[in-house]
Amino acid sequence: MLVARTAEELADRVRPGCVLVPTMGALHAGHAELIGLAREHAQRAGLEVVASVFVNPAQFNQRLDFDRYPRDLETDARQAHAAGADAVYAPAVSEVYPAGVPSGEMALPGLASGKGLEDEGRPGHFEGVVRVLHRLYELTRCGAAVFGEKDWQQLLLACETAPVGVEILPAPIVRDPDGLAMSSRNVHLGADARRRALAIPRAIEAAHASPTVGQAEAAMREVLLTEGLEISYATVRDAESLERLPDARTDRPGARVLVTAIVDGVRLLDNGPWAG
Ligand code: AMP
Repeated sequence: MLVARTAEELADRVRPGCVLVPTMGALHAGHAELIGLAREHAQRAGLEVVASVFVNPAQFNQRLDFDRYPRDLETDARQAHAAGADAVYAPAVSEVYPAGVPSGEMALPGLASGKGLEDEGRPGHFEGVVRVLHRLYELTRCGAAVFGEKDWQQLLLACETAPVGVEILPAPIVRDPDGLAMSSRNVHLGADARRRALAIPRAIEAAHASPTVGQAEAAMREVLLTEGLEISYATVRDAESLERLPDARTDRPGARVLVTAIVDGVRLLDNGPWAG
């Protein structure tokens, strides 16, 4: 299994047009799903699958979160290979950002600001995401990239900002058997926090069982607060524009439930179509 530390090493083994799965490592079955989907897509076109492992300093707005992000490249490489990747690309920060880690404002599509979602809780986050994606596309010379629906706003942003020649492929959310969406950050949850975190998928179920947007949002708050979770947002939005919907709305197609809550300092995201 090739672990390329530079774009040059990668180019020796992987042809232009490869299918990229961008990750920050600490791979789990959610990432494996993305790699499997990339494999299917790549096979049809006779291309390779590259999983990138890069903990992107530009998208963390809290130093502690960046420092304690789990890192284990050897295990990641084994898992990526088992899931169907042909190569892992794990560049140094200096290769991705030769002029230093960028910061500051950049123009982003409307769905990345003023929405009170990930754009609000994490200022500068999406600038960092867009910057790293463009660098990873360039460095890997990929023709497609796979993103998880788990990070719904990020997926929409990836679609909006994809350069010509890079196709964006969405992958469904993978959950543990108890319903919690898999996340690299779940390793930080103690047993009690893990149990309380289940309020997040339960809140989404409560939204499904509610007839209006306003009632769905109230029901989610109640479930999350009962378990003592700190709510970043628990809302029903237009699935594409992420705009707020009227409280009285009952019409479900095109609406998406989005929840982010903090459990014992661990920030967990989840979402799904407003079904039921
Ligand atoms: P991360 O390593 O957390 O930055 O995630 C890398 C990619 O994996 C992103 O496109 C995520 O949306 C996706 N991902 C993470 N967790 C899951 C999951 N449980 N199900 C599906 N995709 C996921």
